[in-house]
Amino acid sequence: MDQVQLILSPKEAYELAQQFRVVKRSVDARQRELKVHLTLLTDDEGRYIPRDSAIPLYPAPQWQDVHNASHEVIIIGAGPAGLFAALTCIEHGVRPIIYERGKEVSERKRDIALLNRNEGLNPESNYCFGEGGAGTFSDGKLFSRSKKRGDMQRVMELFHYFGAPDTVLYEAHAHIGSDKLPGIIRRMCECILAHGGEIHFETCVTSLEELKIQNYKLKIDTPVILAIGHSAHDTYRMLYNEGVALETKGFAMGVRCEHPQALINQLMFHLDESRKTKDERLIDYVGNASYSLVTQVNGRGVYSFCMCPGGHIVPAGSEPNGCVVNGMSASHRNSPYANSGMVVQINPEDIPGNDPLRGLAMQEELERLAFEHGQTPNIAPAQRLKDFVEGKESKTIPECSYLPGIVSSRLDQWLPAHIGRRLQQGFRDFDRKYPGFLTNEAVILGVESRSSSAVRIPRDRETMQSISTPLLYPCGEGAGYAGGITSSALDGINAAKAAIGNW
Ligand SMILES: Cc1cc2nc3c(=O)[nH]c(=O)nc-3n(C[C@H](O)[C@H](O)[C@H](O)COP(=O)(O)OP(=O)(O)OC[C@H]3O[C@@H](n4cnc5c(N)ncnc54)[C@H](O)[C@@H]3O)c2cc1C
Repeated sequence: MDQVQLILSPKEAYELAQQFRVVKRSVDARQRELKVHLTLLTDDEGRYIPRDSAIPLYPAPQWQDVHNASHEVIIIGAGPAGLFAALTCIEHGVRPIIYERGKEVSERKRDIALLNRNEGLNPESNYCFGEGGAGTFSDGKLFSRSKKRGDMQRVMELFHYFGAPDTVLYEAHAHIGSDKLPGIIRRMCECILAHGGEIHFETCVTSLEELKIQNYKLKIDTPVILAIGHSAHDTYRMLYNEGVALETKGFAMGVRCEHPQALINQLMFHLDESRKTKDERLIDYVGNASYSLVTQVNGRGVYSFCMCPGGHIVPAGSEPNGCVVNGMSASHRNSPYANSGMVVQINPEDIPGNDPLRGLAMQEELERLAFEHGQTPNIAPAQRLKDFVEGKESKTIPECSYLPGIVSSRLDQWLPAHIGRRLQQGFRDFDRKYPGFLTNEAVILGVESRSSSAVRIPRDRETMQSISTPLLYPCGEGAGYAGGITSSALDGINAAKAAIGNW
């Protein structure tokens, strides 16, 4: 087998990809004419391999029956880190026992529907907590900036094995979509259960000491994989009280910004002002445009985060007195809106004091401010983008994808200056790069406070065990060693391998 790399027009690339086996694909929008870089699989004579060829896409996973396995691993949290840790245990003949504070997917869907209709937040079942963790109703962009952490391709293969589309195997910026993820996560859990693992939903671990007493009994060498995500502030506080080493980590906070998708297509794909493409099917071939923006303001990074073309803004908090927003999109990415987090880097030295949990307090304070300015629970405070930058009240606010509702608010006045001023300058910088980005057609919503973990649970580089607590394996986003679905999944795989390798 061999490969051939081609640079093609969007139409040519689309047509070839319908027929032949793709190895890699990325869209290059840097020039005025859009190009697609396409790598196709060929046979030794250079003939393209048909898309439906019988050649396996990747080696099938080898699950073992672990009903009566002699070794067990306890896993706290059923997000991507916890689930991929559990799947790795099963591949190695070890029985995973998962504790998850939230509900299973079908019940969680009902709680999320209530939240979107603004009929109340269930603090234990929401966009953050439940089967699949924050990954289940996430946007499902599958890529990681880190190439060093291990076998990223294997993570993609497992997502594909459980039902993700072929594109996750080859797209540079693969995407699953929040309509498909719940089914994929359910199939992962069914696989864990069918092979002998256990999953205890609606079971919040409120003490590691008690967990040990309940589960260890005579088996004092059972490892515990801690995959709690970054939103369980109460669990961090429990760990702190029980003597687990924790430290403050840099993170980022800001707002979510939403533009009309047609405007973003016009700016990123260099279309004329009528926002029309020469080829009416361009968006079918390459999808709606996205962006990735970054600048420096007064010594701190200001950047776009988790951009969701054709997406929706969602209420992503887990505490009743806070307002937190995030973004997602369905697999077709075809809503008329484009949103992204616009966040400002916060370093540990920017937060007064030396309490390792002081970053959590800072997040909570900002979420509480947004809650107060939203005036009604889960109504998000909002301001037109240009008004925000120019310090003006928005007399009206545009239609927006955020279902619970928005209310006009002076974010320019109440966001802390170290965030608000930097964001204002950041938006001016982005407008210099893409003139028209800074417009009152766009709206910002407060607040995007959970883009990354504000705490690290330090661990030994070799053994992956907590530096304070033997046999505790902190991993995933909540441990501060990963950010996003793929890197958290990979960190879970590595933690499970480390725990298993200890026997
Ligand atoms: C709306 C939204 C969109 C997103 N879009 C993307 C995206 O497109 N691409 C991307 O890479 N990332 C995205 N993310 C982020 C991504 O979901 C997370 O980075 C990822 O899920 C982290 O995985 P994790 O397993 O480390 O933690 P989590 O997914 O947060 O899972 C942790 C789990 O632990 C459980 N838990 C916590 N404490 C306890 C306890 N004491 N006892 C029992 N269980 C506990 C929680 O209930 C939760 O289910 C998005 C997130 C959101 C909210």
